[in-house]
Amino acid sequence: MKRERVAVIGSGPAGLTAALYTARAQLSTVVFTGKTLGGQISTTHEVENFPGFPNGTTGPELVENMKAQAERFGARLVYESVTEVDFSQGTPFTLKTDGGEVYQADTVLITIGANPRELGVPGERQYVGRGVSYCATCDGFFFRGKDISVVGGGDSALQEGLFLTKFGRSVNIIHRRDELRASVALQTRAKSNPKIHFTYNTVVDQVKGDETGVVKAVMLRDVKTGQVTEKATDGVFVFVGYDPNSWLFKDQLALDESGYMKIDHHMQTSVEGVFAAGEIHDSVFRQAITAAGDGCKAALSAIKWLGEREHLLQPLDAEAV
Ligand code: NAP
Repeated sequence: MKRERVAVIGSGPAGLTAALYTARAQLSTVVFTGKTLGGQISTTHEVENFPGFPNGTTGPELVENMKAQAERFGARLVYESVTEVDFSQGTPFTLKTDGGEVYQADTVLITIGANPRELGVPGERQYVGRGVSYCATCDGFFFRGKDISVVGGGDSALQEGLFLTKFGRSVNIIHRRDELRASVALQTRAKSNPKIHFTYNTVVDQVKGDETGVVKAVMLRDVKTGQVTEKATDGVFVFVGYDPNSWLFKDQLALDESGYMKIDHHMQTSVEGVFAAGEIHDSVFRQAITAAGDGCKAALSAIKWLGEREHLLQPLDAEAV
């Protein structure tokens, strides 16, 4: 069994920032990267709103830089996913990975985020980054003067749809019912925006591209009549909800009714010594920079928590030498 002071689960901006802070505080830190180093941001082509990059950067470059910075201070990345945790006995906590290893860590930071729900229709995956997007803040700028489709009827669809009117010529909100789920305040704003149109009782059956490989149309189906029509569009923004990656912890940590992790002001979960950062608890902001800020806060709390228990912690092999 391997012993660590800090185990970070997840390698997005929250996880890599947390690892930078704990490693720099001279605490032995292991980061379980999961399947995709960097998480969601690693699939974002251009990142123009992360401070410190006046000419923008790419998702993979940002991740690579964050990784290098954390490693510079001694954080060790393990390219495995955590498959089992045991928080029931308190610290030290036990973690098992899909690589068959068992780890014990005095504190655990959970940063494995949330995934935007997909529509699951033909063409959707094929055109991600080529007209299909799940993030208006990330990609809206590329749709200046374009006709944009937004799928969904909740707060995200309307809020992001409103944001997209800053760029697009028109924004068509496609909702599967005739009643929006979004708050009245957002509905009022969206309905009074001349660029926004609503298409109710309608679902997207397919995303179609042109010969250059970018989105050119969606196939829409009226759920009442069954009629299918092709509608030209330059972009499809999908906001049909998010699923926090919290299933692994559902029996051990307190989650809200949507599956987001409940934390206190110090980023601590319902188990003392286990902290969470980023989209696993945040259903509202969902930005790389807010996740990084969260990772910093969780790490500082973990460092303080460990410091207060220094006399109780068993020496690690490396420290005992
Ligand atoms: P949401 O509230 O779950 O809404 C998802 C929307 O997508 C619903 O309108 C749903 O339709 C639709 N939908 C789901 N699956 C679909 C599918 N397969 N095909 C077509 N449509 C589908 O998700 P959200 O808007 O991301 O909001 C998540 C949480 O964050 C909410 O609690 C929300 O209040 C909060 N939030 C708040 C703000 C804010 O306060 N400004 C901003 C963003 C999010 P139905 O309505 O028919 O179910």
